[in-house]
Amino acid sequence: MVTPLPEAIRTDLRALLRAFRPPLEFLSLASPDTARRTSFPVASFREKCRAVENALPEELRTSLGRLLRELDELARVAPAEKGSRARHCLEMVESLEKALSPAPAYRRSVERIEERLEALSRSVQFVRGVGPRRADALRKLGIATVEDLLYHLPFRYEDRRHLARARDVRPGDVVTLRGKLVHLAERVVGRARRKILEGVLRDESGLLPLTWYNQVAYFRTRLRPGTEYFVHGRVEYGAGGVRIVHPEMEPVEGAETLGILPVYTKPSTLSVAAMRKLLGRAVRDWSETVPSALPEEVAARYRLLDLPTALREVHLPDPRSDAERLGDFRSEAHRSIVFDELFFLQLGMLLRRRAYAAEPGLAMPDRGTWTRRLAEDLPFPLTGAQKRALAEIYEDMARPAPMHRLLQGDVGSGKTIVALFAALRAIENGYQAAFMAPTELLAEQHYRTVAPFLERLGLRAVLLTGETSRKEKEATLAGLESGDIHLVVGTHALIQEGVRFRALGLGVIDEQHRFGVLQRAALRRLGTPDILLLTATPIPRTLALTLYGDLDLSFLDEMPAGRQQVRTLLFPESRRPEVYDLVRRELDLGHQGYVVYPRIEEAEDPNVRDATTMARELARTVFASYRVGLLHGKMRPEEKDAVMRRFRDGDVQLLVATTVVEVGIDVPNATVMVVENAERFGLAQLHQLRGRVGRGTAPSLCLLVASFARSDTARERLAVLGRSYDGLAIAEADLRLRGPGDFLGTRQSGLPDFRVANLVRDSSILKEAREAAEAWLEKDPDLSSPESAPLRAILRRRWSGRLELARTG
Ligand code: ADP
Ligand code: MG
Repeated sequence: MVTPLPEAIRTDLRALLRAFRPPLEFLSLASPDTARRTSFPVASFREKCRAVENALPEELRTSLGRLLRELDELARVAPAEKGSRARHCLEMVESLEKALSPAPAYRRSVERIEERLEALSRSVQFVRGVGPRRADALRKLGIATVEDLLYHLPFRYEDRRHLARARDVRPGDVVTLRGKLVHLAERVVGRARRKILEGVLRDESGLLPLTWYNQVAYFRTRLRPGTEYFVHGRVEYGAGGVRIVHPEMEPVEGAETLGILPVYTKPSTLSVAAMRKLLGRAVRDWSETVPSALPEEVAARYRLLDLPTALREVHLPDPRSDAERLGDFRSEAHRSIVFDELFFLQLGMLLRRRAYAAEPGLAMPDRGTWTRRLAEDLPFPLTGAQKRALAEIYEDMARPAPMHRLLQGDVGSGKTIVALFAALRAIENGYQAAFMAPTELLAEQHYRTVAPFLERLGLRAVLLTGETSRKEKEATLAGLESGDIHLVVGTHALIQEGVRFRALGLGVIDEQHRFGVLQRAALRRLGTPDILLLTATPIPRTLALTLYGDLDLSFLDEMPAGRQQVRTLLFPESRRPEVYDLVRRELDLGHQGYVVYPRIEEAEDPNVRDATTMARELARTVFASYRVGLLHGKMRPEEKDAVMRRFRDGDVQLLVATTVVEVGIDVPNATVMVVENAERFGLAQLHQLRGRVGRGTAPSLCLLVASFARSDTARERLAVLGRSYDGLAIAEADLRLRGPGDFLGTRQSGLPDFRVANLVRDSSILKEAREAAEAWLEKDPDLSSPESAPLRAILRRRWSGRLELARTG
């Protein structure tokens, strides 16, 4: 609960903060020279703060204390740093001001909640003004129910309180004008004799040209010269002056002419105004039906609006609202809606995690036998990160509850060894362990890594894949059932072939995102409660919370000593000969290399090279005297494995490939990685590719060949790789630059879709929502209190069965 704050104190402190803004704002923009000459009235501010300090609740007092310390610091730092320090102080002032403003009035509305949810899930046709035809059109946009429509938020707002004047607009401005379309005509341009549409808008200040390049016929018939329009768009330089290209046009007649107006994505059969009217009606008639289930306590702590109020504000903004914050999805109303969505997501995740934890498990404490012997046998000391991760894993295993832990670490960070220790912890407790990898080759590789250690300890390990001969397989199955075999490494053969264990204690799954959610369930069906997942895919914290919010996470954020840093160089197309020279030099030293292309086969785009054509061409020309191999995802698994084996054994010197070489392959003799059309790859992916080299003792190279004609941002993006070797930092940059959709690609996430939240934009709300959900479950672990009943109703609906599913996987 927020402690009530006496109004007088609130006012005093606010006035103090207000007085403090101008000098901070000034400093935040001042040049170092000016900053040097500016002195700062910190002492008097401190004096005044002291007068109110004691009346403040704990939280505010701490924040104020922090601000004062920061101000002292600001006075001390070098002039060049003052700007950024001042900006930081300003942010602190802002958050204090926010904490001081009274919490919005929140109305929890949960009575007859099931009925409300039922009503909202009815067809969108129940909304006034929506008939079968409109319902069809809306459904194509993914809007099927009343609720879908309410959550179809405007993608932008048009501020008709402040219209621009045609004479004053400047290139780069995004503006709304009101004027008459005084001219509209098609014109044929260029050698291609392309038709374009040109118009002229006139307002009382002057004229502004408008241009359309696409859908010329549509706009020609749709727009009426002589009519008055609201025109919205970005002003650009064009032939002969400024203009707007592809403006959005809305006839003034029948439109709302004042206030801040929402603009929606819409079916092409509906006009902007009709769509707005439809939403307006839906909100007026239905928003009160939306239950606001968050407990008052949570709403007050995070200063949230109830959903009916928030929905009304985003669809029908108050004319006094801050249009810019609305447009950025940062209004209180947006924040409240996003918070609600993320709170229930996290609540579901946390419940799922608790459901796992409540299942029966095995207690596997430290017996001081095999794990200790392995530690003595190990030719290198574990890294600090490996020790930390192992301590977390051991603790999970010792507890009589199932372990669901994800171990994330860059390629080469030593995940396999950590998993081996965990396996031995199971074995020293009289259990067996299974280690599952996504491909035959990776399974073999893991087997080669771990088998010698087990052998030296006198324990038995076997490999079980689709390749295993029938006779061997039978022996293996018998050994697993009798318990003679302690550890089995394999592919999905492990879960497909009716394998039975005497007593399986631990399942390790490598690169689990390749397996997807279903195999997780299958592995559990093997009969092990304890699962350790390994991944080299760096997942930014915010994504990890949502993708893996039901798992515990450990990070290997430290490389074993003596690891090479891979030198990373960027080349334009024109310098490809140098790249080939560098590769040849490595091959001549007896090393091996990779050349990766974005495509398997020849594409339409002549600027994109493909692996199949290039493998042929390179083998004939530049690398004619070397052994060249080809590897891509369309080859049959046996073919792939055969090529990879030849590469591993040094038989193939240069491997031409697609990104299939991305995950897990370990050939220490490979010292050069070339990536062609590097601008087409995500940073995280490039980082993973780079991880294929630098695994031995020789210095290694990663050569990125890119065409920058497309954009300079590509160059900027790729430059990150030359500077950073931290997978997690790179993944975070990638996520920021490309957004979550591209970052996740087509990988199955097993998550409910977000309605309004955006993980990049809303990462701070996500953190708060997670914290709030954790705190709530702390108080009411199984949501059994009467206050939690509405939460259960919402969860059931939003997760539609997924929570039950969790119990089997
Ligand atoms: P990952 O699976 O994380 O890519 P691995 O477990 O395959 O990494 O380890 C990569 C290589 O580093 C292996 O050859 C392994 O033996 C070695 N290694 C693991 N941990 C250490 C360590 N602490 N010190 C030195 N080498 C290590
Ligand atoms: Mg590995």
